[in-house]
Amino acid sequence: HAPSRFAVIGHPVAHSLSPRIHAAFARQTGINLTYVAIDAAPEEFDAVLAEFAAEGGVGANITLPHKTRAAQICTHLSEAAERAGAVNTLIRSATGWHGDNTDGTGLVRDLTDRHGLDLRSRRTLLIGAGGAARGVAPALLDAGIGDLFIVNRTPERTDALADALGQPGRVHPRYFDDLRGLGSFDLIINATSATRDGGLPTLPMSLMGRRSAAVDLSYGEVAIPFLSWARAAGAHERTDGLGMLVEQAAESFQRWHQVRPETDAVYAKLREHDALLVTA
Ligand code: NDP
Repeated sequence: HAPSRFAVIGHPVAHSLSPRIHAAFARQTGINLTYVAIDAAPEEFDAVLAEFAAEGGVGANITLPHKTRAAQICTHLSEAAERAGAVNTLIRSATGWHGDNTDGTGLVRDLTDRHGLDLRSRRTLLIGAGGAARGVAPALLDAGIGDLFIVNRTPERTDALADALGQPGRVHPRYFDDLRGLGSFDLIINATSATRDGGLPTLPMSLMGRRSAAVDLSYGEVAIPFLSWARAAGAHERTDGLGMLVEQAAESFQRWHQVRPETDAVYAKLREHDALLVTA
């Protein structure tokens, strides 16, 4: 049997950890597959995906900046992908691509199973309204968080995300300038790429409460500024997005291969190279 073909498509994508993660899952489960990283600029995305399919590709992860475009070309969307308006997992079917979004489930699994956080009733601040924020917000609401406040550099996107989520009594779009008056939060999530792109706006220390958890969805050095702020502000728990990355990969793997790999060893191995962050 030839190995079945998988890929992650993004731009840039060279530093993606997904090929390593899926290779580890394949070894663990004995499944014969190839999984490569494919770089595609925005204007090339459709053609690159068509070529991948023509060469026998049966599944792909989609990352920045293609998640919204991927949702548009699918012939079928899961409920999670529909609600997010973004796709991170493509599954080949006889009629075209099926799109799913495992980012939200991945984050919730990491926070609850790995970090032992009880998300229920947590008053939550989500910073950002891009693809990652859209993926994780519905899953957080489903996991039972309390009120969800959303701020984003571009306010129109804050409003669009809040509208898409519904639940106006529970979901509150706000401006960065409002942050000082909002009191403290039990969960603060940085879902922006601001550290790589000009720096995060100043966040008041008053946002952090005594039992607050702070999460940066990015990982590696990029997560350090936000997590250092969180430590200075007195966060009880701090974590980056490495666990979410491994968990969303496991969820995608399960969609493709009908088996959920064990994630702890893979996570621990990747974390060895990232020891810096544990102390950030
Ligand atoms: P998008 O490009 O879709 O969105 C970027 C977000 O960052 C927008 O909300 C944007 O605001 C905001 N932003 C960018 N620069 C600034 C700035 N200088 N000041 C304030 N806000 C800024 O990216 P994604 O949502 O896909 O990714 C966001 C982060 O999440 C990335 O770091 C990515 O690596 C991480 N991620 C991690 C995953 C994981 O598994 N751990 C999965 C997916 C993403 P605006 O709307 O105003 O442009």
